[in-house]
Amino acid sequence: MPPSTAFATRAARAGRGASPSAVSRPLMPPIYQSTVYAFESLADVDAYYEGDAPGAVYYRYGTPTHAAFETAVAALEGAEAAVAAASGMAVITAAVLSLAGAGDRIVADRYAYGGTYTLFTTELPRLGVEVTLVDVQDHAAVERALARGTDAAHPTALLIEALTNPSLRVADVPALCALGGAYDVPVIVDATFTSPALLRPLEHGAALSWHSVAKYLGGHSAATGGVISGRKDMVGAICDKIVHLGGCQGVQDAWLALLGLPTLPLRMAAHTQTAHTVAEYLTAHPAVERVYYPGLPTHPGYDVAQRLYPDGCGGMLSFDLVGGETAACLVLDNLGEIAFAPSLADVATTVSYPYATSHRGLPDDTLRAMDVGKGMIRLSAGIEDPADVIADLDRALSLCAEGAAQRAVRL
Ligand code: PLP
Repeated sequence: MPPSTAFATRAARAGRGASPSAVSRPLMPPIYQSTVYAFESLADVDAYYEGDAPGAVYYRYGTPTHAAFETAVAALEGAEAAVAAASGMAVITAAVLSLAGAGDRIVADRYAYGGTYTLFTTELPRLGVEVTLVDVQDHAAVERALARGTDAAHPTALLIEALTNPSLRVADVPALCALGGAYDVPVIVDATFTSPALLRPLEHGAALSWHSVAKYLGGHSAATGGVISGRKDMVGAICDKIVHLGGCQGVQDAWLALLGLPTLPLRMAAHTQTAHTVAEYLTAHPAVERVYYPGLPTHPGYDVAQRLYPDGCGGMLSFDLVGGETAACLVLDNLGEIAFAPSLADVATTVSYPYATSHRGLPDDTLRAMDVGKGMIRLSAGIEDPADVIADLDRALSLCAEGAAQRAVRL
């Protein structure tokens, strides 16, 4: 820039040159915090839009930071492509809208996470998409829902959750994908609870696999986002919806999520070990009525889980307390290091209370059908030493036992 250039011009243009070529590269991909990208010519613009030249144009369409994260997730999932969005809900909304519009029908898991359930029961019907809810463990019911009826449109997607939040129901992903295949219906799997370290749905025949990035992919409760992987043409159609609806992920979030990926297998092994040990401890505790963890032989999904999850069932479990809501309040108020934080998959153990958080406001009969009661606590096992997690739980649960003894004396 010539020194004679006016100060305002120098101020506006300083530091905006092309990156210098260098003999080294950053080991960690940088954060591309640029709203827009400059082209040398219209020919380059055309080449970019036609897919003949790499590049970026505008943040909402994706940046090299997003591309780094998406390429990494696609590699973990064994997918042709992946696309990220602002949140898990943003990515699944875009995915459904890429496959279904007014007059179309989808089939979905009635035990899905509360947010997804609300999408199925509230938002999609408002847009004219019919949603047939089924218990995906009942394969005959799934087949009936998939079969083209005389009074219903042929479904354009089957949506399932690999391990459901919070009741840890186990979907037989390969069997459901085979059913979807028989009726030519693409199967979309929410694998948030398993992460690709434990389950890669595309290997079992799913068309698309998606995650809330805020959970295991990041693993540090710092990155928000959603990501979905699958065939290039399907992912491209979802990407178009994200662009049209304005649901792009923030670049800082994409970068933070990228930070989590290399340690995913190590973390999942540790989460699984903690969860398994805690689940066994809770099963034997007199204040606990029921434990939901598919790694326990008492869980109804144990056999399917043994087949699908050779590396373990992950870090999520739930339990019902004998003393119901009173006991749940006592435990939540008296945990020491274990935080009551209504998300999951942090490296530190946390608990949540689905009735008043993730499933808040759903009708009581819906919640009952989902096994979400006022005595249910959901636990996200961290990577700590399981003995320390159990010691913390033990202190809080002993108060439930004392409370029950005092109530018995008063009676
Ligand atoms: N799927 C599951 C199983 C979840 O637990 C959540 C959020 O808790 C979501 C999807 C939605 O993801 P997000 O909160 O990133 O929109």
